[in-house]
Amino acid sequence: MGSRTARYEKSFVGGVRTFCSHNIYRNGFLKLNYISIIFYLKYKQKLLMEDVHFAQKRFMNKFEALKSIFGYDSFREGQEKIIDDILSGRDVLGIMPTGAGKSLCYQVPALVFKGITIVVSPLISLMKDQVRGLNEAGVHAAFINSSLTEGQINKALLLASKGQYKIIYVAPERLDTYSFINFAKAADISQVTVDEAHCISQWGQDFRPGYLRIEKFISLLPKRPVVSAFTATATKKVRDDILNSLKLKDPAIMVTGFDRDNLYFGVETPARKTDFVFDYVKKHAGQSGIIYCATRKNVDQLYLFLLKQGIDVLRYHAGLSGEERKQNQEEFIYDNKSVIVATNAFGMGIDKSNVRYVIHYNMPQSLENYYQEAGRAGRDMEEAECILLYSGQDVMINKFLLESKEENTDLEPAEILSLRIKDEEKLKAMTNYCTTHDCLRRYILDYFGDDSDCSCDKCSNCRAEFEQEDITTYAQAVISCVLEINGRYGAAVVAGILSGSGASKIKNIALGTLQSYGSLSNLSEGAIREIIAELILQQILTTSPDRYSLLRTGEMADAVLIGEKTVILKRKIKKSEESKRIRPSGINKKKGNVILNSKGDELFEKLRFLRKIIAADEKVPPYIVFSDKTLVDMCARLPFDKEQMLRVSGVGDNKYDRYGERFIEVIREYTKGEKIQTVIEE
Ligand code: ADP
Ligand code: MG
Repeated sequence: MGSRTARYEKSFVGGVRTFCSHNIYRNGFLKLNYISIIFYLKYKQKLLMEDVHFAQKRFMNKFEALKSIFGYDSFREGQEKIIDDILSGRDVLGIMPTGAGKSLCYQVPALVFKGITIVVSPLISLMKDQVRGLNEAGVHAAFINSSLTEGQINKALLLASKGQYKIIYVAPERLDTYSFINFAKAADISQVTVDEAHCISQWGQDFRPGYLRIEKFISLLPKRPVVSAFTATATKKVRDDILNSLKLKDPAIMVTGFDRDNLYFGVETPARKTDFVFDYVKKHAGQSGIIYCATRKNVDQLYLFLLKQGIDVLRYHAGLSGEERKQNQEEFIYDNKSVIVATNAFGMGIDKSNVRYVIHYNMPQSLENYYQEAGRAGRDMEEAECILLYSGQDVMINKFLLESKEENTDLEPAEILSLRIKDEEKLKAMTNYCTTHDCLRRYILDYFGDDSDCSCDKCSNCRAEFEQEDITTYAQAVISCVLEINGRYGAAVVAGILSGSGASKIKNIALGTLQSYGSLSNLSEGAIREIIAELILQQILTTSPDRYSLLRTGEMADAVLIGEKTVILKRKIKKSEESKRIRPSGINKKKGNVILNSKGDELFEKLRFLRKIIAADEKVPPYIVFSDKTLVDMCARLPFDKEQMLRVSGVGDNKYDRYGERFIEVIREYTKGEKIQTVIEE
């Protein structure tokens, strides 16, 4: 359907051009030709509209939509139930983690329904991405937001009222406008979907006042459509806000597991974060990755450092010009460059499915933020890594950032206070994630209230082995020293004093009067530094937020000093190869999760290259053409004809028509038409 339209549009432009040159220049009958052109345009317009009506009239069921439009064989967890509920006319609230496939839950019903689906979405980039993806799959969709001119908006609404679009994305503010309300009142609206529905709640991370108007808009419609809402934020407060604000009617609430079992979670505390990042990026050359930093300054510093080391990186933060941001984002999305260093301004609305790693250079302010940002890795369900680089300093940076956060002037003082307290609680939970020695995956799931079983061999704690040492008496000595010098020095000086260093600087400070001088002389300075680092990790000590990192005592210091709390140092002794090999149930057993061998890899690169050429021609990001996962599936299955190609996950009818043959050609050429071995048998 869409391909027919797309071809008509292309041939239409081409047609007018040939028509013009042919008639005007050869025959010279200008007036006559003017009339013919108008006639020709009308004729083409008619064809176009017929094509549209063909698309609208051909109703499909949910399985047809899944296979022929999206190219998938089966629904993922939760999808089918949500789709059935929506199709039966019941409101739904779907709470599923990032990458779980929420879009499909409302897009499939949108294709089955007779009327139009309106999707409220918070961001222009998000809308563009979704509409691009739908258009590629052959679905008539459009977006209406402030990136269009008034004229373009009117034109889009005109086409919408003629039934050109099955799915229309709008920004919440649009729902208030006279022209949009008028259109919606006259149109046949089957479904209103609220994407990123947590934006309705002040308890979520991205509150958007415009979202509060959605319910009023729905109430203005002559016939109430089914209302579906989706978010990845699971906390009860946010959920209640969504249900209340949207006035969902007897909604089916679907909460799917929050586990992303293709993601590895790691917390590292490297001595130098820059070196860690450099090594990591080098080891993962060619793979797509995002490195998040807490501040613009950190982004710039790390960016320049990596550039100096010869790594071709991009950067993104709100301090860059709009033009530069747009360009850098596109370079990343179009796979022209693979690594981007960014603040959290980067990412929401980016559905790049082949991000293989997300490194957090600093600890974020909450696990909500962390899971959302880290969750941008591996949306194609292939293996990916999420690594957080933690240092005690991060806690101070975040406290400082929270304190200097601008207040929302719409809120009452009591509300502001309660938000503050909430922020601090979130920061604590985030810090505990970084310092816990227990399973990181379990920690995340518990935080989001998901108590389903999880077996994990894919986090830095489950893969490590620890030895434990009671360091309480050492800790008491360190705390006494910090109190004695009254927080005036950093870790190096404190370690020097405690070890009884003969360095003149230390001697001058001590001058024989400090009781702590030499009180841990049985330990090396290095060992004392390790203990201090652990005390900072456990927040028994804190550091000043400036570059001097002066040591101070933390909340728990008193309890340690009077012997109420023991301090255990857990040392990671080695990575457990054993635990890496054992794959407990539920992890990594997914159908289609294959590992390519060197031949498979080589073919994958060839297909990737073809995808890049097509993407450039079509002016869309490569992952919109086919995801990495789809290319991997092609390499594993080696389709040689249409029937086989349509069995590849992610290849629907429309995409087959447009690109299928070209991929088959490359596969045939590489394999010389034989089913060679391209995967590693497990
Ligand atoms: P989110 O829940 O974050 O909104 P998306 O809707 O963007 O997630 O989907 C994430 C990815 O999963 C997309 O690339 C999408 O095409 C893919 N996907 C969704 N449903 C399925 C399915 N049933 N089978 C295979 N891939 C799917
Ligand atoms: Mg989404």
